Amino acid sequence: MLRYKDIDTQLIHAGEPDPPIDGAVAMPIFQTAMFHTAGDADYHDIRYIRLSNTPNHRVLHDKLAALEGAEAALVTASGMAAISTALLAVLHPGDHLLAQNCLYGGTYSLVAEDLAALGIAVDFIDATAPESWEPLLRENTRVIYVETISNPLVEVPDLDAVVAFAREHGLVSMVDSTFASPVNYRPPEAGFDLSLHSCTKYLNGHSDIVAGAVTGRGELIERVRHKLNHLGGALDPHACFLLHRGIKTLGVRMHRHNENAMRIARFLEAQPRVVRVNYPGLESNVHYARARKFLDGFGGMLSFEVEGGETAAQGVLDRVRIPLIAPSLGGVESLLTRPVTTSHRGMPREAREAVGITDGLIRMSVGIESAGELIDDLEQALAEPR
Ligand SMILES: *Cc1c(COP(=O)(O)O)cnc(C)c1O
Repeated sequence: MLRYKDIDTQLIHAGEPDPPIDGAVAMPIFQTAMFHTAGDADYHDIRYIRLSNTPNHRVLHDKLAALEGAEAALVTASGMAAISTALLAVLHPGDHLLAQNCLYGGTYSLVAEDLAALGIAVDFIDATAPESWEPLLRENTRVIYVETISNPLVEVPDLDAVVAFAREHGLVSMVDSTFASPVNYRPPEAGFDLSLHSCTKYLNGHSDIVAGAVTGRGELIERVRHKLNHLGGALDPHACFLLHRGIKTLGVRMHRHNENAMRIARFLEAQPRVVRVNYPGLESNVHYARARKFLDGFGGMLSFEVEGGETAAQGVLDRVRIPLIAPSLGGVESLLTRPVTTSHRGMPREAREAVGITDGLIRMSVGIESAGELIDDLEQALAEPR
């Protein structure tokens, strides 16, 4: 499978039908719920959209597995379908997991509410402090779960330590690698058992579908696939087609996201009205050493705090002309949000402020527009109206 050595080539050619289907250069959409069988087919040979085994699914599975250096991959109807199905495939009532203390909001609620209701217990860990994990281990601990780059403070865990800890204690290591995308980090290559993606974000990249993926060890992906067949979160062939098309440009997009975010982070760091910039590519950032060690690029996500709290931050959002004010991330267009009004609205104020999610914090999903023009726009938006 790994016929191409560079990810920029793999993005275009890996996993493509060989020979092409009826000579088609682009993957055709097989918009059919089921396929003919010879009549004597085994149940497992039936092809059906919910079983994620149509040609559009198989092509994506082969491509994603190649991109991440994984044994196998599976696409799902959303990032949350990937995360919930994967967690339910490896955890059972009575089990316990260790999870990073600053998870994506949907994952946090799933773990803290839904898994808890099923009798699955959790302890939250500081993913940058491996020495603090062992005391939380229980006899029934099965999983350690982290995110490559967290939201909105863009923290980078000690990823190698997570893999080593899981191996030492017989746990399944899982990482949500949405913010990094396979261009900046490939969890299975680094030794993670399962890697999760919201393909809604960078992998598709055009803010026009919701999709997810799980990649990793073949035996575990088989368990996730079995669970997905029951839970029903399969990706539609038309969305498969759009995701496949989006993935082909991930290389050029991600290189530009990395570059633009770096330039904007440096610009913001030099602004007197900006009191803090969170970007793992800045030497001043506490996560810089880990980010350099583990990642091939620092990504397109950053956050910054403006002097003057809520009013000042809202003023910046009111004055920008290019970025759209919207939640979500990872598309070609720049987006701004204030996490306290969106992703972290449910978090109590003291808990938020203790970790640095203040009223004045602005999160930016840096798009692939002209960095110079984005910087000019941010400059005018930051200027105090007098
Ligand atoms: C968006 C996101 C998810 C959820 O993905 P959906 O496609 O919206 O279900 C999970 N994890 C991270 C890090 C995300 O950014």
